[in-house]
Amino acid sequence: MFEPYAENVHGDFYVEKDCCLCCHVPVTLAPDLFRYSYDSEGCPSHCFVSQQPVSKDELERMFDVITCADLRCVRYGGSDFGIVDRLTELGQKAICDVVINSFNENDESPPPKT
Ligand code: SF4
Repeated sequence: MFEPYAENVHGDFYVEKDCCLCCHVPVTLAPDLFRYSYDSEGCPSHCFVSQQPVSKDELERMFDVITCADLRCVRYGGSDFGIVDRLTELGQKAICDVVINSFNENDESPPPKT
């Protein structure tokens, strides 16, 4: 449903393709977790996840990025419901693929609560 940029390192967090307005938030707040991809003229074209968060500090900074980046192009594709719950608390349930995928478009009821 959501297509990641090819440069994203394998793992649960990723930057969605064709989402970029160069907000600079991820690379500013978490330069160890995100890097820029550059166009042929050397200008940043979008960011991507260069390292998945492992430590508690890295995970907190990933949450900071997700909370501060208005376009919501940093997404969570994993199924750790501890992380889904935390993202829900932060008002970011919509970036969790497991929540979006469980919502049947033919069903007019709201997405399930987590
Ligand atoms: S979070 Fe989105 S808008 Fe911001 S730099 Fe990355 S790809 Fe661009």
